[in-house]
Amino acid sequence: MDDDVYEKYRRAGKIAAEARDYGAGLIKTGVSFPNVADSVESRIVEKGGGVAFPVNISVNEIAAHYTPRHDDKLVFKKSDVVKLDVGVHVDGFIADTAVTVEVETNEYEDMIKASSDALDAAIDMIKPGVNLGDVGKKIEETIKSYGYKPVENLTGHSLECYNLHSGISVPNVSTKLGRVKPRDGDVLAVEPFATNGKGHVISGKGSNIYLCNKSFRSRFVRENRSKVVFKKIKAEFKTLPFSQRGCKKIFPNTADIILRRLTFLGTLKQYPQLVEQNHGIVTQKEHTVILKDDGCEVTTI
Ligand code: MN
Ligand code: MN
Repeated sequence: MDDDVYEKYRRAGKIAAEARDYGAGLIKTGVSFPNVADSVESRIVEKGGGVAFPVNISVNEIAAHYTPRHDDKLVFKKSDVVKLDVGVHVDGFIADTAVTVEVETNEYEDMIKASSDALDAAIDMIKPGVNLGDVGKKIEETIKSYGYKPVENLTGHSLECYNLHSGISVPNVSTKLGRVKPRDGDVLAVEPFATNGKGHVISGKGSNIYLCNKSFRSRFVRENRSKVVFKKIKAEFKTLPFSQRGCKKIFPNTADIILRRLTFLGTLKQYPQLVEQNHGIVTQKEHTVILKDDGCEVTTI
């Protein structure tokens, strides 16, 4: 990896780690979701990073993919199991990291430790040429040793410039798939999820997280107004996901109408929330690593 690129990944990692820990400290009973999401995203920008994806705040049986709207009324409640997932980029080079916080109580301490230990065990194994099926097996064994299940259909992923999922998956269960072996200089986000539910997520309601549809070009949009708006969105967020809150910063009065219209036209897609199938509680921990020498460097600590 080029020195300049390496430095950018490391800077993104430092900012993401700091923003994640800062955000985790804000999660308290009665605090609103948009308060935490906005504070973390502002912190990222203050520190010189870009928001690689909206801060995800996914609670209890929601494993991933929820970000609050600007006027979201949700507040944290006692015993909520909160996954705070933060993405930062420096010139497109991304760090992706998550932590689980239980509000006030310690009822799910073990399940939080299960995903955290699984992540540590995976990181210990990851090096150029590693079989990612074996990494998944280790994650699965570690989580099961605590009496929980890994979420089988959520995976870690490789990262590239302005690309949050560049093709390689890091499984959370033992699998023969994924024969692609990561190489020196590859960047991976590793993210075990543990649950007391089924170990499988399904799509739920809207997440308030959007992405420009890759196959669409603005010239396919017939209406002039939508065309201009779409170009602005693409210029601001490029190939990265963005939120209703982010859209509101560019279009203070019309964000909701625009998002509805462009989603209807198919130029944007809204991600669904990912919900545990049996409504089990879910915990997650995530770090980003750069593969080098005979191991890997964690950028997000
Ligand atoms: Mn993440
Ligand atoms: Mn990730």
